[in-house]
Amino acid sequence: MGFWGGIRRVLFSYVLINGIFITLQTKEEVLLDMRAAGGELGWLTWPLDQGDTPGWEVVQRTLNGSQFYTYSVCNVEGREQDNWLRTTFIQRRPSASRVFVELQFIVRDCNSFGGAPLTCKETFNLFTSESDADVGTTFHKSLFKKVATIAPDEITGKNDMRINTETRVVENLSQRGFYLAFQDIGACVAFLSVRVYYKSCPSTIKSLASFPETVAGGENQVLKEVPGVCVENAVSVEVPRIYCTVDGEWVVPVGQCQCKAGFEEKEDSCQECEPGFFKDSESSGKCEACPANTQGLKSGALSCPCMQGFYRAPTDSNSGPCSGPPSAPRDIVATTTQLSAGKLLLSWNPPADTGGRDDITYNVECQRCEGAVCQPCGEKIRYDPSGTGLRDTRVSVSELDAHLNYSFTVEALSGVSMFASQAAPRAHRPPSSATLTTSLHYTDPPKITTMRLVERAPTSLSLSWDVSPRPRVQSRPIRYELTYRKKDDNLDVTTYIVLILEKSSVKVSDLDPDTAYLFRVQALSSDGSPGGSSMEEQFETLSDGHHTPNRTAIILAGGVGGATMLFIVVVILFLRKRRRNSHTRQGPEDTYFSSPEQLKPLKTYVDPHTYEDPNVAVLKFATEIHPSHITKQKVIGAGEFGEVYRGSLKVQGRKEVAVAIKTLKPGYTEKQRQDFLSEASIMGQFAHQNIIRLEGVVTKCKDFFKHAMIVTEYMENGALDRYLRDHDGEFSAFQLVGMLRGIAAGMKYLSDMSYVHRDLAARNILVNNNLECKVSDFGLSRVLEDDPEGTYTTSGGKIPIRWTAPEAIAYRKFTSASDVWSFGIVMWEVMAFGERPYWDMSNHEVMKAINEAFRLPAPMDCPSAVYQLMLQCWLPERSKRPRFGDIVSLLDKLLRSPDSLKAIADFDPRVSIRLPSTSGSDGSPFKSVSDWLESIKMNQYSENFSHAGIVNMDQVLQMKNEDIKNIGVRLPGHLKRIAYSILGLKDQTSTLSVFAV
Ligand code: AMP
Repeated sequence: MGFWGGIRRVLFSYVLINGIFITLQTKEEVLLDMRAAGGELGWLTWPLDQGDTPGWEVVQRTLNGSQFYTYSVCNVEGREQDNWLRTTFIQRRPSASRVFVELQFIVRDCNSFGGAPLTCKETFNLFTSESDADVGTTFHKSLFKKVATIAPDEITGKNDMRINTETRVVENLSQRGFYLAFQDIGACVAFLSVRVYYKSCPSTIKSLASFPETVAGGENQVLKEVPGVCVENAVSVEVPRIYCTVDGEWVVPVGQCQCKAGFEEKEDSCQECEPGFFKDSESSGKCEACPANTQGLKSGALSCPCMQGFYRAPTDSNSGPCSGPPSAPRDIVATTTQLSAGKLLLSWNPPADTGGRDDITYNVECQRCEGAVCQPCGEKIRYDPSGTGLRDTRVSVSELDAHLNYSFTVEALSGVSMFASQAAPRAHRPPSSATLTTSLHYTDPPKITTMRLVERAPTSLSLSWDVSPRPRVQSRPIRYELTYRKKDDNLDVTTYIVLILEKSSVKVSDLDPDTAYLFRVQALSSDGSPGGSSMEEQFETLSDGHHTPNRTAIILAGGVGGATMLFIVVVILFLRKRRRNSHTRQGPEDTYFSSPEQLKPLKTYVDPHTYEDPNVAVLKFATEIHPSHITKQKVIGAGEFGEVYRGSLKVQGRKEVAVAIKTLKPGYTEKQRQDFLSEASIMGQFAHQNIIRLEGVVTKCKDFFKHAMIVTEYMENGALDRYLRDHDGEFSAFQLVGMLRGIAAGMKYLSDMSYVHRDLAARNILVNNNLECKVSDFGLSRVLEDDPEGTYTTSGGKIPIRWTAPEAIAYRKFTSASDVWSFGIVMWEVMAFGERPYWDMSNHEVMKAINEAFRLPAPMDCPSAVYQLMLQCWLPERSKRPRFGDIVSLLDKLLRSPDSLKAIADFDPRVSIRLPSTSGSDGSPFKSVSDWLESIKMNQYSENFSHAGIVNMDQVLQMKNEDIKNIGVRLPGHLKRIAYSILGLKDQTSTLSVFAV
């Protein structure tokens, strides 16, 4: 019976809140305890004078051996009873408005008195009266309010004793104290105990918030909201709260306090992180172990400082690991990509130790060394994409000079490199950079400066020549191609003898005495590309009748006298007197190449039509490939004769190469087959970096009718016009001029071989992965049949008007000079990123404009020097146009000093974009934004405009450059095109006059 014992009791109960049991404690504060008082209580009884029927009395009793006082009354017979027992004044605690009254009592069974008296009762009443002061013995019944009638659960008989316990609540107390009173109305009752108490929620800590002891509320405050305070070193966003129930139980804690940074929760308090641990924010999390390369010496750490030699980058989180600077990049190699462009590709492997970071970038530093003297390369060289901040482990370096040693230092950097360099001078750190010293293994194509006669004999001539620049001792030897022929060979058959030599002198033997010979020597650079050749020099043998000429001997005994003869080639040109029909090409027999310095080149292109049987020409100039060595993979284009495939070629002993395969579709005539294969006969005669290379042909297969094929090197990026259109604005002027330089070099080679292309246009230039451009499309009939740009002229021929020089259109004068005109158009196409020359003007309008001296205007952003060259190519007088050799030299010069490309030619948006950009094709203003975008070929941005709410042309006219960018036009070329077009729209004066030159 615990309640007999203490004044305070704490009761535990369990409440289920939101599915979680929380332990709640209840505290009882006792205001009055009859038993615990242990003596006379001095309670008031009423009425005071009761005669022989006493009312309530104090009786001392013994229960289970212990003595105690009870109040009892037992007037069960006679008149009606009204006996009151009133407690002493019970002081109330200010917040306790609700008290519990617990009674232990026994009630005697009325029947146990034998013949139950009429007045005997088995219940009594509980009353209460509030007062702000103790009223002493003053007692007024009327001041008391009834709380309850109390009946026993069990009544006591004659010989047993049954104790009842009943608790009643007295609510809404508000005055300083109160009295309880028990009214007896004729029962036999004894109180063993009367206990008055109230309940409170004990002080507690929940969710790191402490809540004070709180007296439970009453009827009108069933849940008392109690604010709490975060424990030391804990904080919370909102004030933590909890509710105290009427039963003195805490329920529903709201809000959570969290330990500050450097502290973690332990047993309802926040305690410092131990050394080696940290916590960087206020949270309910635990302290974490210090990360890699950090140290934790103190307790309560918010973060762990870096160990020596390790750092955090500004962007690193303070709580993350520390890292060290990277070690040096490994295995730097330099590979030569485009020798002639002075270009190297540097590549390397990432550092072995990244210092634990993934933000490694690289800076490349260049030193140029002449002998032992090195100095920074500075602005002289170009890096692509950049010399600093590289993420890739490669960079292309260009504008390098031959003959120099370069030293490239590649430094690996990371977000912490700058701290590392501040902390320790470079000498005291492990190196983060590696250096490679290299030089370009090429020389500018060497030129022969002078050729002289050293010794003369009747059957031999000793010659020597000078070469510039002089070959260096260690570099790969230059070789020389010496070609000679008798001066007055009969015109039908000219015999050229070609010697490949490794020295700059030779004794040529077995010559005819007293005969004039013409010699020409050409240097071949180490990569095999030909350099400039010498003038043709004439030397005569001495006269001596003893020697008889012997042609075979001449051929076989070409190189003697110290020169190393690698091989001898004999070129015999049959200069047929037969006049070529109008469809065949004409050599450059016109005045264009007939100036005295421009002697005919030695190697001349042979027109396959000069062969009686064109099949013989194919055999002669093209290698036969077995079809089993070819695999077709995918159709990539359509030619006049059949599909063009991408495929691969695997010939024994050679590694597999990607190829393009042109096929001849079944059902062709023999003439068509010959025309088809003529392209191979022509291409097979060329060997130049910028001419598409013939791998071979398939003509002899058993069912060759199905299989005639021409196999060429594969050019990954396809036709140039299309490629540029697809990459509008993506290349710099320098890159575009680099492409033109390649095309010009290819054309120079062709013109040197007296080959006239006749259909030079960007669509007939192919581009590979390295952005190298190669001239293609050599079919004899292709201008007639194949080219969709070809237009029938009044004479019945088919000519691509926009690309063709006026004299070639007017009277079919196709020459290298007319190819130069076409090259000018190609220049324009390239600089305009594949724009159609003369836009949508008709062929007739184009011819008329040209005749009236109008020329294409400069494309957007076209360097002035480049545009000037175009205009030169379009000079009406063909002999005044530059030659391909001049063009190559000029473009080389521009590329060598890129600053020369900075001056931009005047540009008129109204004509350069497209004439009708100021209005629709019918001359009226554009009706819709999409019509306008369509006209400037920018309709891919239609959605961008409509999303941005630009739906009519008035709005377009208001747009500023920023607005165009903001709606999502990012490519610089496109941005300009749209911006310029808007400019043009604003200025309605569209005119052709700007064509005038
Ligand atoms: P052609 O008949 O030579 O004009 O070729 C038709 C199309 O096939 C060209 O426009 C190119 O797209 C493609 N093509 C021709 N030759 C090659 C090649 N060697 N490499 C890649 N594509 C080629």
